[in-house]
Amino acid sequence: MAERYADIIVDISHEKVDRPFQYRIPQELSEDIYPGVRVHVPFGNGNRDKIGYVVDISDRPAYPVERIKDIASVDVKGVTVQSRQIQIAWWLKRQYGSTMIAALKTVLPVKQKLRQLEQKKVTASLAVDGLRRAAGECEEKRQTAKARVLRALAEDGTLPYELIRRKLNVAPATLQALEKQGFLRIESESIYRNPVKPMAGEEKKLTLSEAQRTVIEDVLRDYRAGKPQIYLLHGVTGSGKTEVYLGVIEQMIALGKQAIVLIPEIALTYQTLLRFYRRFGDRVSVMNSTLSQGEKYDQMRRAAAGDIDVIIGPRSALFTPFPALGVIVVDEEHEGSYKSENAPKYHARETAVQIASMHGAAVVLGSATPSLEAYYRARKGEYRLYEMNARHGGSTLPDVHIVDLREELRRGNRSMFSGMLRTLIEGRLAAGEQTMLFLNRRGYAGFVSCRACGHVMKCPHCDVSLSEHTNGMLVCHYCGYEERRPANCPACGSKYLLGFKAGTEQIVEALHREFPAARVLRMDADTTRTRDSYEKILAAFADEKADILVGTQMIVKGHDFPNVTLVGILAADLSLNRNDYRAGERTFQLLTQAAGRAGRGGKAGEVVIQTYQPEHYSIVHAARQDYRGFYEEEILYRELMQYPPASHMLAVLAVSADEEAGRELCAQLAEQARGRMEACKKERPPQVIGPARAAIGKISDLYRHVLYVKHEDYETLVEIKDALELFCREKEVKNVTVQYDFDPMNTY
Ligand code: ADP
Ligand code: ZN
Ligand code: ZN
Repeated sequence: MAERYADIIVDISHEKVDRPFQYRIPQELSEDIYPGVRVHVPFGNGNRDKIGYVVDISDRPAYPVERIKDIASVDVKGVTVQSRQIQIAWWLKRQYGSTMIAALKTVLPVKQKLRQLEQKKVTASLAVDGLRRAAGECEEKRQTAKARVLRALAEDGTLPYELIRRKLNVAPATLQALEKQGFLRIESESIYRNPVKPMAGEEKKLTLSEAQRTVIEDVLRDYRAGKPQIYLLHGVTGSGKTEVYLGVIEQMIALGKQAIVLIPEIALTYQTLLRFYRRFGDRVSVMNSTLSQGEKYDQMRRAAAGDIDVIIGPRSALFTPFPALGVIVVDEEHEGSYKSENAPKYHARETAVQIASMHGAAVVLGSATPSLEAYYRARKGEYRLYEMNARHGGSTLPDVHIVDLREELRRGNRSMFSGMLRTLIEGRLAAGEQTMLFLNRRGYAGFVSCRACGHVMKCPHCDVSLSEHTNGMLVCHYCGYEERRPANCPACGSKYLLGFKAGTEQIVEALHREFPAARVLRMDADTTRTRDSYEKILAAFADEKADILVGTQMIVKGHDFPNVTLVGILAADLSLNRNDYRAGERTFQLLTQAAGRAGRGGKAGEVVIQTYQPEHYSIVHAARQDYRGFYEEEILYRELMQYPPASHMLAVLAVSADEEAGRELCAQLAEQARGRMEACKKERPPQVIGPARAAIGKISDLYRHVLYVKHEDYETLVEIKDALELFCREKEVKNVTVQYDFDPMNTY
């Protein structure tokens, strides 16, 4: 029998070993070696025993045979990943640029020994009536945490301890107190590590609307015909998208298939999970960042073994190794958190499409404010578009007022609150209703604008706002353009040309000054450092322990506060003036979401949008909740400037402790890319922009330089990336790290 050889990735985190090593497959192992198997191999001069992954098999030696070592053994204890997972890793590596090791670590479940875990559950000791009465008494005493537990138990007699702890945000002491009072029992049982136990399957049966039925039927018909598609559901919160996901998944399960449901972690609420558990019982499992590595590993193992049919979780749930995947759902597909921040910087939406095509599975995307990418493809016919307009939740759209902050200045109002916002806050305080004030501080990147006319200082070549540096220069972080900061506004001559500086802390101070009696909570990166502080602040606000919640974009996601009838957006154009081509899109999404926070509970809601640019299309269309209108204007801009999705864009970031070395390499890479584009002689040559110093030029003493390459063909950018990788390898670049980011969510 002919000799066979295996390409093996050795699990060492180092650039140099980021290539397969070839080993001979010994005769006695030949049955056991295939892509995905973990093996022991002798490595290096000392023949140290190392773990490796088989990624390919061939009959031909790539080196003189006497230099090729034998595979020592198959790692029987280890996870045998499916060849599909290895293929996905290869795809991620090539598509997004990273080492193979980093790609494998993204895709492979974390190996860890199985332990039997004890799981605690909470069981009601009273009948439903008794629980409801007790809950009512707790509410009167304002013991809202206790009331939440009792109400939840009234619906489901037994609940997992962890679910109550994390999703209902109830402290252990509270549960013990309830146990002492004789309302419930806390019990332990030894179980498989499913973080949430099945719950009673009583679910009210809905009659699906025509629109909902159509989607489900279309998805299943295409799937049965062997032509699965990508479906985009465009519908406001409450329009019944989740009900469609449930319906599609139910039918997929009936066909013996499995489903992955991606939900941004922040939107993975108790109510949403409960709907999936009610429908699918213990065939569903959840993945999130609060799970231990062991728990995550168990989820993966159970999926591979066919013990579950549905997994719900953030980005990483995408790599659940199901044997026969039928559908991948990506809810809130526009969310920025679907893009990985570490190499490989993959986008979960694009990766879902790839994984689905490997399985012949369908992809269902949903959003109230679709990404430009998704809507663009839907318009081009690549995705099937379904508009879901009706609302089932019963809440109405709020009244939206746009306040022109330039007018306020003219009237002599220098406060952060416009006259209208102040009056409306006073009204809410008097009526005992709640207010949310929202400041998009991520937008605070030192942009400079005129307080008198709203003029923003922009780069003449890139149509992004310039950033102010301490040395008095205004700098473009796309192309490196610089100019001296003028003393007066170039548009109107006023001297109020200022950088915007206001944070949530200043807002809280101003509230204390102007509304001394108001109880105020603040939520931002500073107040949510610990894991559960986020939930604690939200729970306190839900319990009406504060009149006003001030926060960054964290406060606009996912949560329903029925008593909130006023939402104030303090400076809507803050996010608009980020030096970022996605600024308009992000602003529209944030404003639409923030506006949607007002008036959830049947009471009418009002929204005040304060801005220096009341006529900007992102703001105008968000105020009208007009997605289509926004899209039509935004896509024109993207097409004009050749930004995604009209074109593709590759960001190349060079990071180095040595500033000069970083700049030098980035310049060489730009030269390579330019040479490359001449060689490729495409109809339209790629555009190379930069190099420039990154917007955040130094992080932890590492200097950052960036260059951008644009082309309408993604594959061309992949080829350029490959060429740059090769260039760096051949040059044996050591003191500069190069990162690649395709169609970046942020600029650098
Ligand atoms: P989305 O996912 O778009 O926010 P959901 O599927 O969560 O919408 O639906 C919002 C609310 O409307 C839920 O309480 C849901 O039970 C209810 N609902 C959805 N579809 C229907 C229907 N066909 N008939 C009655 N109620 C529905
Ligand atoms: Zn001006
Ligand atoms: Zn520029």
